[in-house]
Amino acid sequence: MTRPRARISVELVAIRHNVETLARLVAPSALMVVVKADGYGHGMLPVARAAREAGAPWLGVATIDEALQLRREGDTGRLLCWLTVPGEDYDTALRDDVDVTAYALAELAEIAAAAERTGVMARVQLKVDTGLSRGGAPTAIWPDVVEEARRLEIAGLLSITGIWSHFAASDEPDHPANDAQQKVFDEALDIAHDAGLRPEVRHLANSAAAILRPGARYDLVRCGIAAYGLDPAPGRTPDLGLVPAMTVRAQLAMVKPLRAGESVSYGHTWTADRDTTVGLVPIGYGDGIPRHASNRAHVEVAGRLRPVRGRVCMDQFVVDLDGDLPEAGDDVIVFGPGTMSEPTAQDWAEAADTINYEIVTRVGGRMPRVYVDEGGTS
Ligand SMILES: *Cc1c(COP(=O)(O)O)cnc(C)c1O
Repeated sequence: MTRPRARISVELVAIRHNVETLARLVAPSALMVVVKADGYGHGMLPVARAAREAGAPWLGVATIDEALQLRREGDTGRLLCWLTVPGEDYDTALRDDVDVTAYALAELAEIAAAAERTGVMARVQLKVDTGLSRGGAPTAIWPDVVEEARRLEIAGLLSITGIWSHFAASDEPDHPANDAQQKVFDEALDIAHDAGLRPEVRHLANSAAAILRPGARYDLVRCGIAAYGLDPAPGRTPDLGLVPAMTVRAQLAMVKPLRAGESVSYGHTWTADRDTTVGLVPIGYGDGIPRHASNRAHVEVAGRLRPVRGRVCMDQFVVDLDGDLPEAGDDVIVFGPGTMSEPTAQDWAEAADTINYEIVTRVGGRMPRVYVDEGGTS
């Protein structure tokens, strides 16, 4: 097999380790591993399998399509999705034992109609908007949503398996929104209880809250980023020994000398102030390398950090090798776990004014993913 020009390797051992670590941390609350957006760029199916092997009782995805794909690939565990538009394929979701989320009366009606058509009792979780002002029932209609859900439950069409919400600022533990949202959540739970609902799981926390706010763990926590080994609240999270699962590598395409006064890449935004050598890295924003990190990020070549010089292009970018002469074909580590001298996804996030989530989720393009497991490479 020829060595790929560039590749993404994903350590499934790291995923399993992170899932086991998080499960132990939050016990007796249960853990949902969130594998939406192709497993945050790590590959939804292999990550889902690794999470189940590590004992994750729940998986979470955004869309029904993602949930159905997991079922087609043989996943049989508890599975929640939470983002729908009118006219979704609820029939298949119910037949495939997916827990679906409702924010509004119209969704409850659609789900109830699917239950009538299919003869399958729907498993529904209700989401309340406690202050993120994104999805979820506004508190003003929450009593109506729970009354209607209870009516449909009594009619035998659905079962309310969960009630949940989502934080706006859980990566800032001292932000006043956290306490405020949790208070609204508790009130929403009381209203649901008074209406006769007895959900199996109540849940509010994502990774940051699961780690930093034990009082928000309820019955279940929904961890995405931490399961991939990245820090949900950089600088604020205790060291749990989580291991970043993704490493992005490329081969150097070319090495050449550059004279003082010569400029690099589109727009000539960087000019050498001394004679040096540069290397060509054959991936660019077409592969999810952020153009915004031009002249700011670093990669590792031959055991040292090398600065990106000039603009990141669609297919390639240039790094300063400071007079060194590695050979074309030598390894470039774009980012990895940071256990050696390589930069991390967090370093790239800071260089691109974004969050580590976006770095790993967007990287891909033409690069193949390679899965590394204990037994070797598959
Ligand atoms: C993506 C998502 C999560 C996971 O968040 P992390 O910060 O990655 O742990 C949890 N809940 C909902 C509703 C989400 O959309």
